[in-house]
Amino acid sequence: MAQMRTVKGVAVAPGLAIGPVHVVHAARDAAPTWSVPEEDVPRELSRLHAAIRETSGAIEQQQKLVAQQLGERDASIFGLHKLMLGDPVALKEVETTIREQRINAEAAVQHMVDRVLSSLAGDGGDRVRGSWSQELIDPWRRVLDALMRTDKIEMEKESEQVVIAAAELTPQVVTFLERSRVLAVVCETGGRYSHGAVLARSFGFPCVVGLPNLLSRLEQGMRVCVDGDAATVGLRPASEDVDRFLARIERRKARQKKLALHAGEPAVTTDGHAFATQVNIESVRDLDAFPFNHCDGVGLLRTEFMYMERPQFPSEEEQYRLYRRVLERMGGRPVTLRTLDIGNDKQLPYFKTPKEANPALGWRGLRISLEWQDLLRVQLRAALRASAHGPLRVLLPMVSSLEEVQEVHRVFNGGTKQLRDQGFEVAADVPVGVMVEVPSAVFAIEQLLLEADFVSVGTNDLVQYLLAVDRDNPRVARLYDPHNPAVFAALAHVARAARAAGKQASVCGEMAGDYATALALLGMGFHSVSVVPTMLPEIKYAVRETSFVEAKEIARAACSQSTAEGVRGVLAAARERLHQKQLSDRNGDDAFAESDVATDDIRREGR
Ligand code: PEP
Ligand code: MG
Repeated sequence: MAQMRTVKGVAVAPGLAIGPVHVVHAARDAAPTWSVPEEDVPRELSRLHAAIRETSGAIEQQQKLVAQQLGERDASIFGLHKLMLGDPVALKEVETTIREQRINAEAAVQHMVDRVLSSLAGDGGDRVRGSWSQELIDPWRRVLDALMRTDKIEMEKESEQVVIAAAELTPQVVTFLERSRVLAVVCETGGRYSHGAVLARSFGFPCVVGLPNLLSRLEQGMRVCVDGDAATVGLRPASEDVDRFLARIERRKARQKKLALHAGEPAVTTDGHAFATQVNIESVRDLDAFPFNHCDGVGLLRTEFMYMERPQFPSEEEQYRLYRRVLERMGGRPVTLRTLDIGNDKQLPYFKTPKEANPALGWRGLRISLEWQDLLRVQLRAALRASAHGPLRVLLPMVSSLEEVQEVHRVFNGGTKQLRDQGFEVAADVPVGVMVEVPSAVFAIEQLLLEADFVSVGTNDLVQYLLAVDRDNPRVARLYDPHNPAVFAALAHVARAARAAGKQASVCGEMAGDYATALALLGMGFHSVSVVPTMLPEIKYAVRETSFVEAKEIARAACSQSTAEGVRGVLAAARERLHQKQLSDRNGDDAFAESDVATDDIRREGR
């Protein structure tokens, strides 16, 4: 019996899943390659022929339309495109590649496109390449698009659950199919703190990236075992591998069930110190995915996703209704609404921001809201109106100076007065907080706290800016290290300053989702963490098993380390302590037994 091959990557989201793989395409000119078993070669050929027929038909339509509107001369280019597609030599080349290399249709088309482009570049250099190559290649690019589109349509018709595989982890890949159809996501590249990763975690399926050449080892429909805890993907499991894996899934489920039993209890340390555990959500839908009465409120409502799901900017009324629904669903628990945070990797299809050399350092977050104040005004009006229906807090992303906060306050106060004048009800006190994501906000935290009612540390961005490492760039992903002592020093500084100012401080970046890190944050003096809902039960359990004195000791030890390895050692020791405590207190019934792998493996294995 052939052995299962296990490839090791980087853990993005925990969990175990087994199922057939489906390779998805999310970007043009990046058609992924996977191998096709002999018996599926005819299927790939017929997919190719169908895509060519579809493209040919569409080109013919366009030709007719342009001929009617502008005349035959202008329409002649489409005739040329049709000719290109009908070229028997090109078709034969693609068919031969599928047969001989046993690869998927889109990869074979991409091969041909690449070959034509490079031979043209060789013949006449860039001059020829620019104009001619587009004409030659365009119809075949449309075939690629057709293959990818029909693939999605076909998949949507089915109901089988699949493991999504793709070249790069992007929000499009994670949302390729509806949530209930996805067992796990595995990708060749992708940042652990990119938006695709954030989405995968909030959807709650296991996700592993950093698997070079994965796609060429896959066949569509091949069974794989995804271990999001240990960051591995098992290919072609034998029946005994499947049995072992299924048994692990059962054990994990039992453990989660046990944790869930107590997830409704508050996170209070053994010596009586309460720690608020809140959730990060992207939409009202997210509230259906977990028992919301298990959390102490929404610590981060990423409103930009509500903007992304629409064909145009949502109106004040639309936003008001959405925010009101979240508040009503939370039944009196606070909801922290972050104002629009677009730019960089988060783009709205209907609001094109200019191309920038350094988008992470460019026009994004609050900078856009302050320049396009109409956007901010509408969003604040909607939020303020919703505040009449529950405890709403407003949070500002990407703050880098006190002036920015003062400017928002002016708009905010103006909006409040205007709404009241217009007869709208607005809560008497809507706190306005600041996200600490930029180094200047760490160093100027005392000044910011004079204006801000609370602060929330966005470590996903703070790590990127403190360490000068792009959170979305797989080339430098190894260097993106939340355990760098500078990050812990920044966190401790913010917690101290907030305590001194008598204001609440929270951490809403992804690193707070690790329960040992959450204990360190509690020990530093943070009043809460805000994490993806799936992480809540574990964090609450860990807090209830720890004293505040112990948490302070974890924080002190972590902050006194001079290397990231040292910080990881402290956190690993905190996990081990809980593990041992469990074993001795509960006769071997250990809730933490299988959960301790992911965070440390990320660093040890590199990306
Ligand atoms: C962060 O930067 O840590 C954060 C929570 O915001 P986002 O991930 O949406 O940029
Ligand atoms: Mg951020």
